[in-house]
Amino acid sequence: MPVLYRSSRTEATPRTLADAVLQGLAPDGGLYVPLNVPTLPQKWAKSTSFQALAWAMLEPWLDGLHGAEALVHDALNFDVPLVPLSGGAWNNVHVLELFHGPTLSFKDFGARTLARVMEGVRREGEALRILVATSGDTGSAVADGFAGREGVQVGLLYPAGQVSPVQERQLIAPRPGVTALRVDGTFDDCQRLVKGAFSDARFHDAHLSSANSINIGRLLPQMTYYGEAFRQGGFNEAVVVVPSGNLGNLTAGVMARMAGVPIRHFVAAHNANPFFPAYLAGSPAEMGRSIQTLSNAMDVGAPSNFERLNALLGSEMPGWIWGTNVDDPTTLNTMRRVYDETGYVACPHTAVGLEAVQRYRATHGYNGPMVVLATAHPAKFPEVVEQALGVAPDEPELLRALRDVPGAYTSIPATADALAQALGVGG
Ligand SMILES: *Cc1c(COP(=O)(O)O)cnc(C)c1O
Repeated sequence: MPVLYRSSRTEATPRTLADAVLQGLAPDGGLYVPLNVPTLPQKWAKSTSFQALAWAMLEPWLDGLHGAEALVHDALNFDVPLVPLSGGAWNNVHVLELFHGPTLSFKDFGARTLARVMEGVRREGEALRILVATSGDTGSAVADGFAGREGVQVGLLYPAGQVSPVQERQLIAPRPGVTALRVDGTFDDCQRLVKGAFSDARFHDAHLSSANSINIGRLLPQMTYYGEAFRQGGFNEAVVVVPSGNLGNLTAGVMARMAGVPIRHFVAAHNANPFFPAYLAGSPAEMGRSIQTLSNAMDVGAPSNFERLNALLGSEMPGWIWGTNVDDPTTLNTMRRVYDETGYVACPHTAVGLEAVQRYRATHGYNGPMVVLATAHPAKFPEVVEQALGVAPDEPELLRALRDVPGAYTSIPATADALAQALGVGG
């Protein structure tokens, strides 16, 4: 029996994975959540590789999708090392490195898998168009994951002069089926243009779809690395720390635990953006504008996946998840401290999680295994790493190679007309 999905807002007709993935958002504006979470097969932790484990975990979810096993192997074809730290306060702390995919952040898991699932479920002869506004890791992961997929075209909007040099090189690397649009405006302008396109008559025949973390198809593959931490670590149970922004990663973890991965407790590690830790602590919490920080991929004032978490856990949420906020000075100190005490170079997002480890140990008196999700490669943030450690991170080959590739992009003003023209829709 394939898993069916309902909207987080109403108990309307259950939908298949194909519908949920192609629609992105439910018609009533809610987010798709599974009607039930299938229990993991007994054998999951005995898998002999990450790819085998990923398939064991995803098989019930992709039931009925043609070529699903090959799809999973092809999408998740990189390593997920579990690195134990040692020294000082870091014993029994493990870093799960989620940044060994082609664009060096955990967004590769979701984007690569979603692209292949969409290619598989799209209606015969119908071309899909994905639009994403990005200021961070999602854009390059989506561009890379969707490039060259049959019948799928991607338009990538990013604000001119407001992404880092490394990010821009990653965004404009030429890829088949991908158009990078350098928008003369802010990130909010980019988002406004994307939202507008969904109700713009010119885009009516373009079969628009979304690839951000409101899409359930991005979250399913993210369950797999929670299992992988236990496969490699052999833990009976462990606390998992998730550096969080939109809460997609954490939601995937909650689904993994529902499926039977023995996660004792979650820690939602946030930067200065206050909403979720305040909510968990029972204080009056309001969603608001985002605050800019050094861990910019987590600068979210109103996390979109909160609604999905709420639909899955309701009032049980505070029992499953503990949260904390880490400010920028503390993030820099933690990067420095971890480097001095263990030699490990963490990106600023991962450092927010590492600081949360110490706070969790102190407040909960827990000395058992803790796993911190390392969400991005430190070389994606060379300026911050240099500020914290006084040395620049080593540049991985994947980034070095981009220096020699001439980028391809179209500059447009922040208007709907310019967007339609650049993408050749509505003639
Ligand atoms: C996207 C991102 C996050 C936040 O993940 P959410 O699923 O939005 O909570 C954290 N770190 C990095 C590096 C990211 O790219």
